[in-house]
Amino acid sequence: MGRIVSSGTSPSCLVTSLSVFGGSLLDGGRIALILSGVITALSALLGMAFGPQGPIRGGDIEIERAAYDVLAYDVSIKADPVGKSFAGTTVIDAKTVIPTSSVLVDLSDEFAVSAVTDGRVPLRFERLKGQIRVHFSLAKQPGDPIRMDVTYAGIPHVARNAPWDGGVVWAKTPSGADWISVALQGPGADLIFPCKDHPSDRADRATMRLTVPDPLVAVGPGKLTKTVHHADKTSTYEWTMPLPINNYSLVFNAAPYELVKDSARSVAGQSIPIHFYVLPESRPNAARLIAEQKKYLAFMEKYCGPFPFRAVKIGIVETPHLGMEHSTSIAYGNKFRFAPDGLDWLLLHEFGHEWWANLVSCADTRDEWIHEGFQSYMDTLYLEATHDKAAYLAAMKDRRKKIRNERPVSPRPEVSPEPYGGDIYDKGALVLHSLRFLMGDEAFFRVLRRMAYPKPELEKQTDGRALRLATTEEFVNIASVEAKQDLSWFFEIYVRQAKLPTLKTEAVDGGVHLRWETSDGSVFPMPIEVLIGGKKVRVPMAGGRGIVEQAGSDFGIDPDGWVLRGADAPLSDSR
Ligand SMILES: [Zn+2]
Repeated sequence: MGRIVSSGTSPSCLVTSLSVFGGSLLDGGRIALILSGVITALSALLGMAFGPQGPIRGGDIEIERAAYDVLAYDVSIKADPVGKSFAGTTVIDAKTVIPTSSVLVDLSDEFAVSAVTDGRVPLRFERLKGQIRVHFSLAKQPGDPIRMDVTYAGIPHVARNAPWDGGVVWAKTPSGADWISVALQGPGADLIFPCKDHPSDRADRATMRLTVPDPLVAVGPGKLTKTVHHADKTSTYEWTMPLPINNYSLVFNAAPYELVKDSARSVAGQSIPIHFYVLPESRPNAARLIAEQKKYLAFMEKYCGPFPFRAVKIGIVETPHLGMEHSTSIAYGNKFRFAPDGLDWLLLHEFGHEWWANLVSCADTRDEWIHEGFQSYMDTLYLEATHDKAAYLAAMKDRRKKIRNERPVSPRPEVSPEPYGGDIYDKGALVLHSLRFLMGDEAFFRVLRRMAYPKPELEKQTDGRALRLATTEEFVNIASVEAKQDLSWFFEIYVRQAKLPTLKTEAVDGGVHLRWETSDGSVFPMPIEVLIGGKKVRVPMAGGRGIVEQAGSDFGIDPDGWVLRGADAPLSDSR
């Protein structure tokens, strides 16, 4: 599992140098480790290094944040649209995983912290940039519970361009009512409440108690468990999410919403409630959107397994920004712009993230193509499911035009400290498209299903145990098992390196010689289809080379655009 090297006595000097999976397959024990949320083990699996850096949202993590595993958040926020302010208390329930006498909690600088207690007595704390350091009078030992009640208030960061920049949106509905929305996937949940703002640690459950002026209805994740109307013309809406939830889904929206209810049957048998919180002005569109929603449910369940949150609900809430994949409370702001065939691409994309982001979550943003690339692939696959293969292939060719190949889709930690490259959507989808060609439909769709639910019995679970943190390496392993060959060569070129492979061609005696070239010189045995005499023929490309004996006048390479690569070039151009 690697080694831990201490280079000093202070926990913040502890440095780890840990290996990743090492190419071995993810077994049940490792899955159990991930599910248990034991950060030391998880960090080892992910090869994270701890260092005395500032708050980093997605990559490496400091020891004082790695030292605890969040079990639950209980977030109370009173939102005032007049003063554009928040005030509240967050209770963090956690478990110690590394001995420590202090921990770091993330909280945006916009908020002043008035108190931190353990629920009974005050805890000493310091305000750092973007963080709070909380001290314990006795060092916490692994397994010790930690409780921190943080009371704070301030003017939260305002989003200028939600959902891309993140923050609070203070909008007005078409009839002039207040419309509050929060989106913070990029900058993190510490924009609205104190938390451990790192994707490697998601709470096992959460409660949000949201107080807003009447007649606004505040909508959070999970189930509405209580509503209290106060004498001061405000109301508190208590939302309980009983399943693990990413920090960036711990947000809320508030408006004079109306609730439109429906239900759909899961492929697993249960009836799933559908709750759509819609503005009164938009209510005439609600039935049509829900009808579309049911199609996306059937599509996603067919390929990726049962809806993971069927014990809670399918939630949609109308937002003033475009949208976001908030678990069980999908933010929808596409203004009911249905395509001629009825498709609302935004709802399909955000709802699909219930599998690729909320069921399968990456613990490091360097793996975020598992969210965006996978769901982008599903978005395009939907065209094949509802139209035909030609529509799918054409849409994939369009994605080719958008990729830049400037940074790897999923850089290794030692290659780049930077998480999240720009190509994770389109190139991520194209990697899966090429993988489908390599493996064939049957094996490829099994891989997709196994990545969603590594074991068939997990598809039956609705209590949260199917939800997991995943890595790119895990996907390489799952695909390799199904392909019955080590596919590291494929992923090394397509997701670990930025530059695309190129196919070199040379006309020889009426035939064509083909050879793959890769930026690192590695062998790339990616088969390719060629057009000969009106027929598509698969060239195996063993050892990265292939020969077409008789090319013919209509010779063409990869006529359907299956294989992701740079511009083809004559062999004489080889470096
Ligand atoms: Zn997305």
